[in-house]
Amino acid sequence: MNRYITTLKGASVVARDTMAFVLKRPEGFLFIPGQHIDVELINPEKTDAEGAIRTFSIASAAIEPDLMVATRMRDTAFKNVIRTLPPGAEIMIDGPYGDMILQSNTERPAVFLAGGIGIAPFRSIAVEAARKKLPHTIFLFYSNRAPEDAPFLNEMRELERENPRYRIICTMTGSNNGKTSWQGETGYITKEMILRYCSDIPSPVYYLAGPPEMVSAMHTMLLYTMGVSEDDIRIEEFSGY
Ligand SMILES: Cc1cc2nc3c(=O)[nH]c(=O)nc-3n(C[C@H](O)[C@H](O)[C@H](O)COP(=O)(O)OP(=O)(O)OC[C@H]3O[C@@H](n4cnc5c(N)ncnc54)[C@H](O)[C@@H]3O)c2cc1C
Repeated sequence: MNRYITTLKGASVVARDTMAFVLKRPEGFLFIPGQHIDVELINPEKTDAEGAIRTFSIASAAIEPDLMVATRMRDTAFKNVIRTLPPGAEIMIDGPYGDMILQSNTERPAVFLAGGIGIAPFRSIAVEAARKKLPHTIFLFYSNRAPEDAPFLNEMRELERENPRYRIICTMTGSNNGKTSWQGETGYITKEMILRYCSDIPSPVYYLAGPPEMVSAMHTMLLYTMGVSEDDIRIEEFSGY
């Protein structure tokens, strides 16, 4: 059993309609950045057909003191309840699970392809890599409709200053890219975009996380347009979006 009762420490808005929830890290709770947990509301005042449990990637690094998850706030019973919980409220967590963790081979670069809230496991890995000065070379391609939809955008960019082996490429796919003027890449992540930044790196390992539609499109592109081997692709699909 990997179940723990913990408490909510706080919540904040991290992008449009997107919140992060900070949980007290239970004593003895160990995880590897990139893993996820099941979050269960205890005696929620309402539930729906999907029940009181949702799976979330751990967005905090293992080196950070607390646990954090981040989610798009839709009009579902689970999210309506969790958004109104006061600090100190008890929450059950189960985990950690999952194997989308940074490869041990430090010779090969890691290329992360994140769609929207799919940034969560990559924040955990990238913060851990920066704080622990891991030797891996990391490229993060981060796709959102508009800057205001991109959780942790500034923080993920700031990490470039902390870690010279980490590079972030953000792209906005919305027609007008939102209210904020945008100077960076636009449109979906494509083979051409990846090669513009990664043409001269030796055989990378690719990591995909985000809504199923995005992950499926990226997976197909890697396999059939770029000829990447299935063995070199690691996936965390956020089923439920
Ligand atoms: C390994 C893994 C990791 C995950 N990590 C994360 C994470 O870090 N962050 C995160 O946010 N999610 C993550 N998810 C998905 C998460 O578990 C939920 O499924 C998701 O947040 C949706 O929950 P919900 O309460 O909004 O919708 P649910 O009530 O779970 O929705 C169930 C169904 O209804 C549909 N639906 C409900 N509301 C709407 C709506 N307003 N518009 C359109 N369709 C709707 C959904 O498409 C879905 O098919 C992860 C899933 C997995 C499997």
